[in-house]
Amino acid sequence: MVKYIFITGGVMSSIGKGITAASIGKILKSRGFNVTAVKFDPYINVDAGTMNPIEHGEVFVTDDGTESDQDVGNYERFLDQDLSGINYATTGKVYQTVIARERNLEYGGKCVEVVPDIPNEVIRRINAAAKEAKADFVVIEIGGTVGEYQNMLFLEAARMLKLQHPKNVIVMLVGYLPIPEMVGEMKTKPIQTAVKQLNSAGIQPDFIIGRATQPLDEPRKRKISTFCNVDPKDVISAPDAPSIYEVALNFANEHLGERILLKFKTKSKKNDLGKWQTFVNSIHTAVKPVKIGIVGKYFESGKFTLMDSYISVIESVKHAAWFFGYKPEITWLSSESYENDPKTLKELDKYDGIIIPGGFGNRGIEGKISAIEYCRTKKIPFLGLCLGMQLATIEFARHICGLKAATSTEFDPKAEQPVIDLMPEQRELVKTKKMGATMRLGAYDCQLKEGTRAWEAYGKKKMISERHRHRYELNNDYRQILEEKGLVIAGVNPKKDLAEIIELPDHPFFMASQFHPEFKSRPQKPHPLFRELVRAATERSAKK
Ligand code: GLN
Repeated sequence: MVKYIFITGGVMSSIGKGITAASIGKILKSRGFNVTAVKFDPYINVDAGTMNPIEHGEVFVTDDGTESDQDVGNYERFLDQDLSGINYATTGKVYQTVIARERNLEYGGKCVEVVPDIPNEVIRRINAAAKEAKADFVVIEIGGTVGEYQNMLFLEAARMLKLQHPKNVIVMLVGYLPIPEMVGEMKTKPIQTAVKQLNSAGIQPDFIIGRATQPLDEPRKRKISTFCNVDPKDVISAPDAPSIYEVALNFANEHLGERILLKFKTKSKKNDLGKWQTFVNSIHTAVKPVKIGIVGKYFESGKFTLMDSYISVIESVKHAAWFFGYKPEITWLSSESYENDPKTLKELDKYDGIIIPGGFGNRGIEGKISAIEYCRTKKIPFLGLCLGMQLATIEFARHICGLKAATSTEFDPKAEQPVIDLMPEQRELVKTKKMGATMRLGAYDCQLKEGTRAWEAYGKKKMISERHRHRYELNNDYRQILEEKGLVIAGVNPKKDLAEIIELPDHPFFMASQFHPEFKSRPQKPHPLFRELVRAATERSAKK
């Protein structure tokens, strides 16, 4: 029988529920169990694709093209396992499925009700995810915080599932313990309040994960135990960690794995976090810096939100740097300043490598193109991702092929020289305003050209598969001139004959992909393109 672990959040959001869920998955996996994870988001948006990444964080894409929340990326990275659409759902998606079923007369004339039909669909999805992964354990993260109206249906699902299988469901509450400056003491009251709210939904948590800037001491654990009705051993201290990858090790030190198994009256087949420990040690021992600049738009709301929208890119750089024993130093660079004052481009010299990540819309575009030109001519290692590849193509077309008006129809729908353009099927969708989930999404094959740098990077494989999320493509009408002038098309999608990777010879490293390699980098398996960028970057830093 599958065992279910629900992770709910109390007190406030953004305290690391996703990392908690992923770390618990990691611990159980290291004990020899099959594990999967599911995230529920309490939004009406049917998927995360239509949510603004600055507000909601990165849109992560799985192989099947589901646009999900960044936590699905965390699960994939921690569990080192591919997930799919069944591992992510929003309130909108759940309702959409139930309503479609009703329209299909599948409820046989019954009244379809919010309770139990909506929680039942939540439970059905959890079981489907468990089945797909042949999971012994499924970790379910409920977005938002307890006590919110939007959260209720997912809590109802947890309650109903526990009623059906009392021995196979546990619920955890991740709560925050503030240390107000004027008091200088860690306060437990917000957690007590959150537990009361959970209780009023008919749920008693089995574990309390206490997030705080510092570890929880014994008096705090005892107090939470007494007031929240949990064993003191099940109050887990979760202080801020220098790296998210360390959280699983902290949990293991708190004996969380043993305690979970005890609750389920299960024994583990093994206990092997050794490789993970070695990996985390390598993070600490890396001291030599490798400086990577990421050129993006400047967001008024500050760089923290921006970082959240590019979490997979950041993690990919880190994985690659640690692989070489280097300490990643990532800096956000504003492309708009290059537009306003081209002299500032010189600051790029300081970096060992530059990345232009994905993006939408035309703000900051010309600054990014100037940055690419600078990297190309000054031989600074460069990696372009999706929009980054489109802009690298435009830069090459303008400055090497003499196509001075080269641009993308995304920026100028009436472009004279549309080197980046919509495919006909996308044009129809844009015209009829069918925008949600209609991009080129998910995994597509890419055939590598023998002898290219990309082919070498991927271990001389003929065919690879990578994840996409975009509407525009390199326009094949311009392929000949681009290739004649020296742009190497190193990867092509064989079915649609679309350029997937471009590179330049005679450059320490200049590569860009139409797909998003960042979605497939894993902590102990850096993605080949990030790895090669960082390799070139470390060589540049050695020469300085
Ligand atoms: N805006 C571009 C497109 O839609 C690039 C998208 C991206 O970088 N993910 O094709």
